[in-house]
This record gives sequence, C-alpha cells and structure tokens, in this order.
Amino acid sequence: MIFKQLSRKLSRISKSMSASKLNKVYLQILGNGSKDAPASFLLFTENQRYLFNCGAGIQRIINRNRIKIHPLKLRNIFMTRADFNAVGGLPGLALTINEEDDIKTPINLWGPPSLEAYINATRFYIFHQKLNFRHLTFTNDTPYFQDENIKLWPVVIDDVGSSLYETSEDSEASMNKNKKMKVSEERFPTSHVYNYQNPQQPTIISYICQLSQLPGKFLNDKAEALGVPNNKLRKSLIMGQTITLRNGTVVRPEDCVGPQEPGMVFMIIHCPTLDHIPQLVGCSRFESYFTNGENQQPELMLHICPMNVIENTAYLDWTKKFGPNTKHLVLNSDVCGGVTPIISEESYHKLHALSSEIFPLLKYNKLRPVDKKVPNNWIITDTLLTYHFRPRSLMGFDRSKILQETNVNSIVEKINNRMDIKNAIQFSNQDILDRENRTLSVKATSPVQRNLIGRHGEIVFLGTGSCYPSKYRNVSSILLRLNKNSCMLMDCGEGTFGQLYRHYGSELSDILRQLKFIFISHMHADHHQGIVEVLLEHKRATQSTDGYYSPLYVIGPWAINKFLNEYNSYFESVQWRFMSATEFFKEVCVFSDVVKTELGIIKLKTVYADHCKGAFCIALTHREGWKLAYSGDTQPSSKFVEIGKDADVLIHEATFEDDLVDEARSRKHSTTSEAIEIGVKMNAKFTILTHFSQRYPKIPAFSENYSDRTGIAYDHMTVNSESILFLPRLLKPLNIIFKEEEEIED
Ligand SMILES: [Zn+2]
Ligand SMILES: [Zn+2]
Repeated sequence: MIFKQLSRKLSRISKSMSASKLNKVYLQILGNGSKDAPASFLLFTENQRYLFNCGAGIQRIINRNRIKIHPLKLRNIFMTRADFNAVGGLPGLALTINEEDDIKTPINLWGPPSLEAYINATRFYIFHQKLNFRHLTFTNDTPYFQDENIKLWPVVIDDVGSSLYETSEDSEASMNKNKKMKVSEERFPTSHVYNYQNPQQPTIISYICQLSQLPGKFLNDKAEALGVPNNKLRKSLIMGQTITLRNGTVVRPEDCVGPQEPGMVFMIIHCPTLDHIPQLVGCSRFESYFTNGENQQPELMLHICPMNVIENTAYLDWTKKFGPNTKHLVLNSDVCGGVTPIISEESYHKLHALSSEIFPLLKYNKLRPVDKKVPNNWIITDTLLTYHFRPRSLMGFDRSKILQETNVNSIVEKINNRMDIKNAIQFSNQDILDRENRTLSVKATSPVQRNLIGRHGEIVFLGTGSCYPSKYRNVSSILLRLNKNSCMLMDCGEGTFGQLYRHYGSELSDILRQLKFIFISHMHADHHQGIVEVLLEHKRATQSTDGYYSPLYVIGPWAINKFLNEYNSYFESVQWRFMSATEFFKEVCVFSDVVKTELGIIKLKTVYADHCKGAFCIALTHREGWKLAYSGDTQPSSKFVEIGKDADVLIHEATFEDDLVDEARSRKHSTTSEAIEIGVKMNAKFTILTHFSQRYPKIPAFSENYSDRTGIAYDHMTVNSESILFLPRLLKPLNIIFKEEEEIED
C-alpha cells in the first residue's frame, strides 16, 4: 500500500519535473500590418507574455478575443521601431494594466532611444505613475536579452544614409524644433531635460528569438533497468542527485533522462525601405542561422516589410539562406490591407438589415489586391493567426482564431423573417406617421424642422463607447460632414483612423482631403489618443509631389498642442495648426475666411465642460441655418445649455444609466435622463445619446415622452437630415437585437 502511494507520488514528481514553463508556447498575430491593425505579436508562454509592438487598436483586438494579457505576466514589450504604428496602443494598454495590477510592477519597454521621448510626451494626459514603463534602449552593442524562457538578440539599424522623415517648417512645431526642452510639469515626477532631435533616421530593430531548451524527460524504464528501486532513492535521482545503489553502483541523473529538446528559433525582420536592405542582409548576427551555420535555422520569419522590399532580389536571396524549412510570413498593408474583418461584424449586419441607410455596408475592401503576389510558399498573414511551438504535438499554424467574414445576405434575410422585429418597426411606423404629419404642418413655418443638418450635412458616429475600446463600441469620435467638400472630427479616440478606414474603404483619401479640423473636447485618452494617426494619414492624403499639404486645424485644450509639439520635435514628424478652444468663448469665428467659406460654419462657440480641467463643450452654426451642439464629456451643464440654445441636433454623452447617478456624479458624467433633460432645456429639436459605458450595446431606459426625438448612437451609424428622423423607429427593434446579443455573449 505504502509502495503504491509512493509510486504515485513519484510519477507526479516526474511529471512536474518535465512540466517546465515552456510546455506551451505560441506566437499570435495581434496585427497583420494592414491599415487598421499595425504589425504586433504576442509570444505566449505559461508564466510570461512578450509583446512585440503595440499599435493603435491592438487593445480592441485583445478585448474582442478575450486574449489574456495577465498584467503580472506581461513584463517585457519589444519595439521594432519608434513611430505611431508601433506605439499607438501603448498608453491605452498601460492604463488597462495599471487598473488590473495592484502591485504596479513596471513593464520593461525595449526599443530605440527615442521611445523615451514618446513616453515623456504622454505626461500631458496621463499621470506617469499610471504609465509604469521602464525604458531600456537597444543598440548594436546590446548583446542580448535573456530570461528563463527566451533569449533575444536585437539587430539594430540606425543609419541608412538617407533621410526617411522630412520635417516641415510650416507647422506649430517649427517653433520648438531642435530646441532642448525643459520639462517640469506637475504630472511628471521629476524635472527632466532630454536632447532628442526630430529623428531624421529612425532606428529600426529586428529580433532573433530563441526559446530556451526543454530539459529531457525522466525515464522510469531506464531507472528500472539500472535497478533503481522505486523509493526515496529514485526520488533523489529525479530531483537531480547522484545516488549509490546497495550493490555499490553509482547512478547519475543524466543516466535516466531523455534528450533535451532544443529551443526553436523565430525572427522578426523589420525592413521598411529598400535603403535598409544592404545593412540588414550584411549583418553578421544572422549568419550562424544560415543552412551551413552552427545554429538551428529559424522555424518562422515574420517580415514587416512593404512588397518592394520582399520582391527585391537581394532581400529574397538573403531569406533563402535560412533554408527551405523556414516559414515566411508577410505583414504589410500592400497585401494584408483590408483583410481584418470588423470586430463585431455580425451584429452590425443585423442593424444593417434594419436600415441600410443608417447602418450602411462598410466599404473596407475585403479582397486582397490581385496584382500583388508574395513569393512562393510565403504566407499572407491574417490577424489572430497563431503558430504553436510547443507542445510538439500541436506544432504548426492554427487558424481557428482568425475572424471570419459574415454572410451579409443571410443575416439580412434572417432579420427580415423575424416577425417580432418587423412588428416592432411597424408599431413605430405608426408613431412616426403621426409625427411626420405634425412635422410636415410645422414645415410650412419652419423649414429647419425637416432640415436638421442641412442639405448635405451628415453625422457619422465612429466611436460611441467610453473609456476603453470594446467589441461593440470603439472610443469617442464623430465625423461631421458639413457640406459636399468639407468635414470635421469631433474627438479622435484610439483607433479612429481604423474606424474611418472600415467605414470608407478606398474612398477614405477623399474624406481625409475634405477634413478641415479636429475638435478635441478634453485630454482623456479615449477622446484624443488617435489624433496622431489621423494627422499622419491626412498629410499622406493631401501632400502633393512638391511637398505642399493642406493644413489641418486642431481646436482643443492647450495640452493637446503641447503633446503634439513634443511628439513632433522628438519622436515623429506630424503637422497641424492649433487654436485653443478658449478662443471660442466669445461668439466670433476666428477661422481664416478660406476655412470659413469651405466649412460653412458661421458661428463656433465653446464653453468649459463640468468634467475635468480643460474640458470643453462645443456648439456650431452652419450658414444654412442649422445648429449642432456636442457635449464632449460633462455632467449636466447650464453653460452648455446656453451655448447650445435651440440647437437642431444635440449630441450628448450618456455614460451611465439612471440608476448609476452616484457614479455619474463622482466621475463627472451624465446619466441617460440627465442628457435628455439637457436637450429639453436647450430646446434641442433632436438629441442623440453617445459615450456609453456598458459592456454590451443596449437601449438605456428613458421616458416615452422623449422617444420621438431621441436616438441612440452606435458605431458606424450614419444620419442626415432625412434619416435622423427615422432613429426613434429603430429603438424597439434595436432593443430586441441588442438583448439577444447580450444573451449570446453571456
Ligand atoms: Zn470619455
Ligand atoms: Zn473624460
């Protein structure tokens, strides 16, 4: 009996000995390099997570797919480059981790020297105690990084002999360019002087990564054969001690252990331009991994390179030196463009079935460009593609997590066959008929009544959630199209560019060319973290061959200008023209005449919101006579009621439902009823609620008295003067659809 127990115990010990922390290891693609998912990867081991790059929108993919980045397990982030594509999602991720990690252990942020400048610049909107990074610079003198799971060699390229970034004098930032900047802001713990220049040649880092070896398994058969009794002697042997048997035979642990499993190698190759190729392929660090080298060949190579690099003969020949068994993944927007299906496509298509006008089909192009081919056997990477390194039995690609496109037609058909939803619309139909009759009779005296946002006005809700991007709602942003040729953004949370891209697809560059200004309501990250990406893409879309680009105005708190200034001076070149939101306290339009005629805005007023320091609400009047007011984040504010008086459309935050009024007070937000009440006080003709904090979309409860002039915003919802009046009809059917969505998720 005792022997049996001991035997079981020993077999458990033997199992746990082989159960090293590396029994399960995989690499997952969090972004495939397409326009809406910058190249980012997660290396998963049992006790650690390693993140490579953290682009904008990555957090939404993490949340959407419930990827467990346990804050205590993510200790190291490695950057291949210091630009927005690599760091855009970093502040959001840091804030999330900070909320979950009580111990507040700093995360090591490895990468180019200028990363520090980016982290410093974020102090204009994040308390740095919350952004708990320890910045560590990789240079070519850095031998390697090593812990119990991986060994990682950086390959640094920082001098390619040609300028990759041009700087522009025509920008707010030119004032501060090349100046040393002393930083002693209240949000930053210590005064700090740093000397980074606007980077002319940004540092690019590739990585060679090797998993640690797995110790060999203890072989009971062998111990048996050597005559080791199954008692404490065997236990000692398993624990790594040399033992002597009764007959005097000495048995060493290695006599009873199988072969070690060598650590597999993978490489992340970042080669952004043809200019980088000579240095990269000439780098001696790679040579030992060639087929005739002493190290084993890489299992996997991830190429963050545009197609002109991949098609380059010198580059292609170099990749062949690693042998025929290496698998090559391509990550870029040339071939991976537009293949990331939207995060909650299926539920969106249900809304599309209700009204194809208000929830239009998104125009991002699902098809890969046909004229671009990758080399034979190379793989065009999908976001969420996974490669299992261990266990050996699972080794290889796993495509099960990749988001699949949904069949729009079948969803539309299903919804059309649902009598409950149809009846809900018909019931509302009756309501709307009555209201339309009333409205029509009013129309004779007040043409505005049927013309809430003018002949060509259109509101596109790009992000309607608060705080963090979630599966259903991205963070705040609203595109307001003022007329045929111009538009503006109200707030610009992380991933706004991705939302624009999904919404407009190939037409996006037209929209960017029409974009004339961005209003930033306040410095909470969910309202502005996406601005750099929009500025960069706007410049790309408007720049002509002679370098001229059309200026983009940013109106907001001073802090956004300070942040952009520092970002531009020390990290990456961006262009904008700033106007403080306080300039619009008086009722004058201080825009230049050209902008005024282009935008058609004749009055623009701002007022301090009741939310955080330097938060603003805005109201604007179009020359066609219609007026729109947007609250940003605020508690009910009488000053906002004043500037928004008689607005045709009020867009008001409704972060909390009515029963959470205490939370709304303590966090300085509004409840559903408070938002509606502001509309009543303002005498607004129509109110649209947005900035919801719920995990699932749902229709917040509010009084039926107001249901004929209230709408609920949803991501990608698009309304004009006609369709906005249809919104109340959708409340009941949306309620049914959202309830079901919640049940599916639970
Ligand atoms: Zn907010
Ligand atoms: Zn806020």
